Amino acid sequence: MAATYSNFFSKLNKIKNREISLPENVEFFLDQINLKKNLNAFSFVFGEDALSNAKKIEDKILNNSHGKLAGLVVAIKDVLAVKDKPLTCSSNILKNFTSVYTATAVQKLIDEDAIIIGKTNCDEFAMGSSNENSAYGPVLNPVDATRVPGGSSGGSAAAVAGGLCDAALGTDTGGSIRQPAAFCGIVGLKPSYGRVSRFGLTAFASSFDSIGPFTNNITDTALIMEVLAGTDRKDNTSAPVPVPVYSDHLKANAPLTIGIPKEFFIGLNKEIFDAIYRTIDRLKEKNYRVVEIDLPNTQYTIAVYYILTMAEASSNLSRYDGIRYGERSADYKDIDELYRKTRSEGFGKEVKRRIMLGTYVLSSGYYDAYYNKAQKVRRLIKNDFSNAFKKVDVIFSPTTPYTAFKLGEKVANPLDMYLGDIYTTSANLAGIPAISIPVGKDKDGLPIGLQIMANSFNEEKLMQISNLILS
Ligand code: GLN
Repeated sequence: MAATYSNFFSKLNKIKNREISLPENVEFFLDQINLKKNLNAFSFVFGEDALSNAKKIEDKILNNSHGKLAGLVVAIKDVLAVKDKPLTCSSNILKNFTSVYTATAVQKLIDEDAIIIGKTNCDEFAMGSSNENSAYGPVLNPVDATRVPGGSSGGSAAAVAGGLCDAALGTDTGGSIRQPAAFCGIVGLKPSYGRVSRFGLTAFASSFDSIGPFTNNITDTALIMEVLAGTDRKDNTSAPVPVPVYSDHLKANAPLTIGIPKEFFIGLNKEIFDAIYRTIDRLKEKNYRVVEIDLPNTQYTIAVYYILTMAEASSNLSRYDGIRYGERSADYKDIDELYRKTRSEGFGKEVKRRIMLGTYVLSSGYYDAYYNKAQKVRRLIKNDFSNAFKKVDVIFSPTTPYTAFKLGEKVANPLDMYLGDIYTTSANLAGIPAISIPVGKDKDGLPIGLQIMANSFNEEKLMQISNLILS
């Protein structure tokens, strides 16, 4: 049975009216996953569980005793814990690890009767921009299988764009939801830091990491965020800020003021520039005000982002030592060799590079010059945004400097790969929410993403304007 509904509500209504059956819908997705195995989007598929839950949840729907997301078929990036299921972070060091508890974000979906269909492939420990750093091999872009889907949540983006599920969870430390959403032509939201509990998310860079949804439309984004958002006593950094009924904001029609940071458009690829300005022109017709703004510290974002996230990663990843859990090297003479061999064998190249660079910037003698300095510049970048949001409601920028590139094209040049994160990393440095929505295609038919940013805990503004643009 084809997944022929425009958003989750219309699917739920079809189930209620017995026009479609939920178990058949799950079977449809399982068939699609099988047919499109070449995409390599899923690392683990929970077919039996998903089907048996579908039967139970369909009964609840027909009895009208169902949760808010009843029957929504969701894929989970394999850095989020799901009890009794593998949690590998696409790394050999966790290849046989099974989770003993469930992440709060995932539990909230389950509590509202969503169906977890499997776990998606990603860059190892979420480090990457192309999903080519995975122990399970690269994910292919469903729009063009010779190209990358983006990273690090490439499997989640490919699963939604390829029609393998209704929605997916990803994580975003410097762009890993927005960039793959842009490359695959779907919607990806990185919420404000603290908006969604990180309990059960494998830490990469703890002061940057956030969890958010991939969807095909904003209605679904709003609904999923109503469930995901909110404080959690298991995560002290989750903020006790009331959660709006996001769906109510989709039809809001008070025009917003849009800021255009000129630093983000200098030298931009013409097709991406034109697609964004076409969107801006449409909004002007609807009385949205557009003003130019300054984000003067933009030139430092990549350097500051990579110094700080590598420092945090080198600390977070010290727990994979072969003693407490995960893989252990088979042969060693003493404990030092056990650590060394376990970590040398278990981690991939990019993860090792980051642990070494992170350790370097934290070492005495270099700490002040790199880590401390980067912390100070992070504050300046945050201040730039605070100043901008005194004048504007939202900020527009490209999500990426280019559309999806060819597999293998940037593997040999990590710096080139890092520079691709130029537009996405600042939202994580500032802790603000940002969304990527599709606003056109380039001459090769590859999707173009528009990034919209708002002040902290103003996700509803992103949804209001995105909904207007996409409808
Ligand atoms: N591409 C960025 C990096 O490699 C972002 C990763 C992420 O958001 N998880 O660090």
